[in-house]
Amino acid sequence: MKTRETAPYAIVVGGILIACALVGLCVLQLLQSRQDALDRASETSRNLGLVAERDIERNFELYDLSLQEVAQGLQRADVMALPPHLRHDVLFDHAMTAKFLGSMLVMDAAGNIVLDSANDVPRKGNFADRKSFTVQRDNPNVGLYVSDPYDSRLRNGTPSIALSRRLSHPDGTFAGIVLLAINLEYFHSLFSGLSLGPHGSMSLIGKDGIMVMRQPYDPRIPGRDISKASTFRRFVSATEGTFIETASIDGVRRLYYFKNLPNLPLIIMVAEAEQDIYAAWRHRALTIGLLVAAFGAALIALSVLLSVQLRRRMRAESELVLLARTDGLTGLNNRRTFGEILEQEWRRARRARSVFSLLFVDVDRFKAYNDTYGHQAGDDALAAVARCIGESIRRPGDIAARYGGEEFVVLLPNTSMTGAFAIAEKIRAAISGLAIEHVSSEYGRVTASIGMASWTPEEDGDAGAVIKAADEALYDAKTTGRNKIASFQTTS
Ligand code: GH3
Ligand code: MG
Ligand code: MG
Repeated sequence: MKTRETAPYAIVVGGILIACALVGLCVLQLLQSRQDALDRASETSRNLGLVAERDIERNFELYDLSLQEVAQGLQRADVMALPPHLRHDVLFDHAMTAKFLGSMLVMDAAGNIVLDSANDVPRKGNFADRKSFTVQRDNPNVGLYVSDPYDSRLRNGTPSIALSRRLSHPDGTFAGIVLLAINLEYFHSLFSGLSLGPHGSMSLIGKDGIMVMRQPYDPRIPGRDISKASTFRRFVSATEGTFIETASIDGVRRLYYFKNLPNLPLIIMVAEAEQDIYAAWRHRALTIGLLVAAFGAALIALSVLLSVQLRRRMRAESELVLLARTDGLTGLNNRRTFGEILEQEWRRARRARSVFSLLFVDVDRFKAYNDTYGHQAGDDALAAVARCIGESIRRPGDIAARYGGEEFVVLLPNTSMTGAFAIAEKIRAAISGLAIEHVSSEYGRVTASIGMASWTPEEDGDAGAVIKAADEALYDAKTTGRNKIASFQTTS
């Protein structure tokens, strides 16, 4: 019974739990796919960085080889003995006709141009103030030096960086430098060929914090010093790494990948904006999230509906049960219900070896009452009699029922003859006390006779015997004057 009553609530709780589980699973799944999007983005950044690194490393290696070849050629007496135009052709034989390359220059120890790959007669110029020159002059072991970006004096201010190598006399003293200029356009075109997403960026930065190139390109960027920026401090904290930070320039949160090039004083940085990384995910998450929320809400709504329906149905059922068990006119138990209860009481009394009593109440001369006052008045009188019976029994186990017509039964568990008689008398007096006029009765009012039987059930007996006994007692009461109580007692 308890589980039946809680079933409607269990349905709602179950619906809510399933909806919560659904939402929980969906959230887990979405978080996982968000992480996947981030992982994919870092991998893409790494790959982009790697592509740029390979290209830069390979080209710089070739440029360095050219510088070294020129440096070696300059030390060969036979080459230096050639007439200037031949010497020029031999020295700069390999020198670059490649796109993005400026001229290769040889300078003496004072920084004056002495050989120029672009002209047989070198252009005039002194570069003794350039770091490409001073670094090589002041330190014999620098090897290849990569300069910060500068605007070329010889090539109409083209933004460039220079690669330089030291030239030494046989005794090791400084003899000048050989220098190759590279247009920053090279990096620009390299980067712009790589796809970075709408808000992504890619930079090449000197390890000293001077910007060389950035995509998206802004001509003011090459040469800018970012060594104080917090992102840059992280770039130099490890050779390679990934982190997420909000850029102070534009307030965009980005995933940064950086790598310090192993053989060059340069750092490659690839940054993808979080909004780009999660754009597809966000769209999907919104769709799935809304759908799952709608499903969850629908599930809860359905379970509430179901619960309401179930509760309504249970109430209707219990009303039906009540209707099926009671008598329409008097509201007392009907005969069928009485039969069931009598069986139960019988078995219980047999187990407990306890006594129980049965009263059989029959209205006196009721046929005549009907004939005199009409059927409707008869019904009203029956209802009044039933009320008297119902009000005369007080103990919770006592049961009254309409047995049929103008006959009623009262079942009194754990009640001996004395107790039963008291109740029977109470009922008889109450009916008589109604003082319903009945001219055809010898008492002038509606009365009832009561047959009474008290019983301690035996193993082999049955409940029908008690009814029979009470009925017999009732017959006694009828034949000996009516409006009275007669009892039947068994010795068995
Ligand atoms: P006695 O004193 O011997 O019991 O006489 P009696 O007339 O009451 O007995 P009898 O069993 O011959 O008649 C019962 C009558 O009760 C028959 C019927 O007219 C009346 N009756 C039975 N059921 C109903 C009912 O539901 N409504 C009404 N109005 N009368 C009923
Ligand atoms: Mg009768
Ligand atoms: Mg009667």
